[in-house]
Amino acid sequence: MSDAVIFAVIFVGFFVLRLVAATIVFFFILPDGDRCPNCDAVTLRVRSKGWKVIMPWFRTSWCYECGWHGLLRRGPLSPSPTVEPRRQDTKKT
Ligand SMILES: [Zn+2]
Repeated sequence: MSDAVIFAVIFVGFFVLRLVAATIVFFFILPDGDRCPNCDAVTLRVRSKGWKVIMPWFRTSWCYECGWHGLLRRGPLSPSPTVEPRRQDTKKT
């Protein structure tokens, strides 16, 4: 095997290894759940066909408080706010 082939194999190997390491690191940097990383508000899930095909294990999200949009890891979702109906007073004074 010539030196050029050995160099190419090692160079490409390090490049692929760097891609794998960066993917793993960025996967764990992404927050899980449905909270915005900027303002900690609850984000809305946005359907994105492209991201769904490329990375189906992420949640495409949009924050309506600050306008952030991006990917979040799947995780526990915030409980939806429950609005209690107004109780009408039956007392007549
Ligand atoms: Zn936000």
